[in-house]
Amino acid sequence: MKILVINCGSSSFKYQLLNMDDRSVLCSGLVERIGADMGSLTYKKAPGSDVERKFTEQRPFADHASGMSRVMEMLCAPETGVIGSLSEIAACGHRVVQGGEEFTSSVRIDAHVLDVIRKLSPLAPLHNPPSVQGIEVSMNLLPNCPSVAVFDTEFHASMPPSAFMYPIPYAMYEEHRVRRYGFHGTSHGYVARKAAKVMSRQETGFNVITCHLGNGSSISAVRDGKCVDTSMGLTPLAGVMMGTRSGDVDPAILPYLAGQTGMGMAELDSMLNRQSGFLGVCGMNDMRDIHAAREKGDAKAELAFAMFCHSIRKYIGAYYAVLGRVDALVFTAGIGENDDLARAGICEGLEGLGITIDPARNAIRSGEARKISQQGSRVRVLVIPTNEEIAIAESTMKVLGL
Ligand code: ADP
Repeated sequence: MKILVINCGSSSFKYQLLNMDDRSVLCSGLVERIGADMGSLTYKKAPGSDVERKFTEQRPFADHASGMSRVMEMLCAPETGVIGSLSEIAACGHRVVQGGEEFTSSVRIDAHVLDVIRKLSPLAPLHNPPSVQGIEVSMNLLPNCPSVAVFDTEFHASMPPSAFMYPIPYAMYEEHRVRRYGFHGTSHGYVARKAAKVMSRQETGFNVITCHLGNGSSISAVRDGKCVDTSMGLTPLAGVMMGTRSGDVDPAILPYLAGQTGMGMAELDSMLNRQSGFLGVCGMNDMRDIHAAREKGDAKAELAFAMFCHSIRKYIGAYYAVLGRVDALVFTAGIGENDDLARAGICEGLEGLGITIDPARNAIRSGEARKISQQGSRVRVLVIPTNEEIAIAESTMKVLGL
């Protein structure tokens, strides 16, 4: 059973064709700078295997349709091909960022669903419009292939109102849908389920805090396999400090800065989303560069790292209180999976909560799910590589009953 997973951005899209019989990746890649004078296409055949082959093309892609039709060609072409014909693709799974309150689980896409996703665009202006475009293009190219939307927000739909409501006038929720939605849900759900499996536990009765730490980062509290709170909010700007996003700040900073500097709302929004976080504090936003700078004694890089660890540690403490008892703490995504210094920094001083990392285990680099807590640590600390594509493909099959 072959499932094509598509993740569309405004000027790019990522794709992966999975063979769900053995969960292997037949090919994966990325088309970037769509609409620019020069675009680029990356296509990896059998990625991650001994026989991986990488193909790249530098040429303009006028729109998503031209990029996607080129990928479809390559799927079946003599040298790059991994399938005999497009009819082998059983279904298409699309990542959609915002499902609002309308979609609390993945759904088969039809004209009505597409319309609702489009109508949710004000809540995700950068994300939902390109998803709609990607869905339309792929449905045109694969007219006989069923498509499923898998929402970043759906895992968080189980949050109780006490966690998702903001203490502002209730009418803002009723009239403008202002509430916490949460993001990275596919990843949080995947690693929470995997953590239960790794520990041979049922999801019922299993409490876990999941830390998805990448360019964008978020933390979730999960009880009985259901999200009960998460750090991102109405938008992915909220929560912990990130690569270029501030995370939580005093909202009164905005009117204060507007008054002091004359900056408008759009400028302030851009400052918090694109010029803040690590980048804002120390001028760099890749954790590897930040560690290199720290080693050279860069005080701002040191400060930024300490702020990052502090902000995540606070959320772990908060979610410990929300859950009451914690069985596992999970790290995932670019930083969570690869950065032992960040994991150690975050967990420093949490021994009183029963969270004790084993330095030797933490230092091991591996692509496998692994335990990094000390023997006897009351909370099991795990590193679990996330796999949003597999999770999207699994949801797609489930929705379609495949
Ligand atoms: P995205 O949110 O874009 O999906 P990723 O989950 O891929 O991000 O995470 C990207 C971030 O992971 C990079 O910016 C980098 O800071 C961090 N990262 C990746 N590899 C390493 C590594 N070996 N050590 C430390 N940090 C890493």
